[in-house]
Amino acid sequence: MKVELIELREDRIRFLLTGATAAFANGIRRACMSEVPTLAIDEIRLYDNTSVLFDEQISLRLGLIPLTAEDLDVYSSPEDCICEGAGCPGCRVDFILTAEGPKMVYSQDVVFTDPGVKVAFEGIPVVVLGEGEKLVVEGYATKRTGSAHSKWQSGTTCGYKNLPRIDIGDCQKCGKCVKVCPRDVLALDEGDRVRVVNLLACSLCKLCIDECDYQAITVTPVPDSFVLTIEGDGSIKAKDLVVKAAEEIRHRAEMIGEKMADLS
Ligand code: SF4
Ligand code: SF4
Ligand SMILES: [Zn+2]
Repeated sequence: MKVELIELREDRIRFLLTGATAAFANGIRRACMSEVPTLAIDEIRLYDNTSVLFDEQISLRLGLIPLTAEDLDVYSSPEDCICEGAGCPGCRVDFILTAEGPKMVYSQDVVFTDPGVKVAFEGIPVVVLGEGEKLVVEGYATKRTGSAHSKWQSGTTCGYKNLPRIDIGDCQKCGKCVKVCPRDVLALDEGDRVRVVNLLACSLCKLCIDECDYQAITVTPVPDSFVLTIEGDGSIKAKDLVVKAAEEIRHRAEMIGEKMADLS
């Protein structure tokens, strides 16, 4: 199996995985979405809310704010904590939010007791407060994974597609496939046939095949090669998200191996 980096940004990574099965590529995708732990606001106590939004709407908005932690490993998930889920500083990080209008309340107004825990983006609007309106909230965040609830989902847009293979045969250079391609994969230049200029952008839609009157172009998926695109919610770097997802898969595979060994 081989991994080649195509694009790396803080919030997005694209890479080519070759020599793997679709099940493995899908396993990486799923682990990024549902098995990498992160913090999210879990419960709130609303002491005052005279804004135009219902309490439930405030709660929902706070729950979906991505959070970062300097050291996430210091927190346990409530299920694995020594308090056995009762709630303690080892599995909860408290916060407070107090605001009075007129003002727009942003995610940056959420202040955690652990200075290492912060909102990933400071400018997420929560609610507009009119003159004299108040919002006073306390609560806590916990560490879980996306399999518990989507608010703990640190991978947002995670997908994969087969690497395309484009073969050009007896091309007459009519240019129809170039015009129909929605992703500018093909180009006509001085050569004797149409040329592939942006293979990774190909979505395997096969419009070019239908458009060619000479059956000169074929597009097929390479069965053991996949382009994966993983985007994070800002709570973790995209690169770390993939590494942690892979670690989780390895951990589970080892656990299965041990169980199988016990059975045999
Ligand atoms: S549509 Fe067919 S013949 Fe025309 S440029 Fe494309 S591959 Fe060549
Ligand atoms: S399959 Fe679709 S995206 Fe790929 S080259 Fe043909 S028209 Fe373009
Ligand atoms: Zn605890």
